Amino acid sequence: MKIEADLHTHTVASGHAYSSVGEIAKSARDKGLKLIAITDHGPGMPGGPHEYYFGNLKAIPDVVHGVRILKGIEANILNTGELDLSVERLEELDFVAAGIHGDVDYNKKSRLEHTEVTITAIKNPYVDMITHPANLYFPLDLEAVVQAAAEYQVILEVNASSLEEPRLGKRGSYELTIQLCRLAKKYGAPLSMNSDAHFFTQVGNIKSLKPVIEQAELTEEDILNTDARKVESFILNRK
Ligand SMILES: [Zn+2]
Ligand SMILES: [Zn+2]
Repeated sequence: MKIEADLHTHTVASGHAYSSVGEIAKSARDKGLKLIAITDHGPGMPGGPHEYYFGNLKAIPDVVHGVRILKGIEANILNTGELDLSVERLEELDFVAAGIHGDVDYNKKSRLEHTEVTITAIKNPYVDMITHPANLYFPLDLEAVVQAAAEYQVILEVNASSLEEPRLGKRGSYELTIQLCRLAKKYGAPLSMNSDAHFFTQVGNIKSLKPVIEQAELTEEDILNTDARKVESFILNRK
């Protein structure tokens, strides 16, 4: 399976990623991708960008090196289920991803609590995608999350970097990821497979998901970002 769009990439602005928008776009072009979302971490992440960063993303052209750029964020889901960026700024973005992260203002401990805040984020009209819902460190009631995502038509990410080698801080499991995909198929929740690249060489890399694709018997139809036009119309419909 091949993706045409990578909806989860980080630039140097994230504070712990090491490439520019230009380098990421060029790498995407070289790999045959047509669209990428730049999704730097929200301001609540240590070393993350100030909110002003998100207020000036319009400085980036819509197409760079021939690749369509969605200007976005990977916002942090906070204790209340709210995000770490104001509504005024979220409104200006092309694409809003949100996920639970450590080392930010988030101290919930239980599966029930992680599930509650994630569902609150799914109900947030600005949120287009939940990142790494199969994260081992913040386990979710996947069935409840998938049902909410299907109802609100929010994308659930199948995160490739979570299944990479331990040196990248492996936080995923094949079992949870396969379970996520099977449930999404069952309930009709949109899925996307993304790199979560923190360096340009990783852009578009979903190699680690091969066994998931096989075991969950996923076809190109099941994955939104196998077709860049499907991504664009999906985003357009949500706005
Ligand atoms: Zn993340
Ligand atoms: Zn990320």
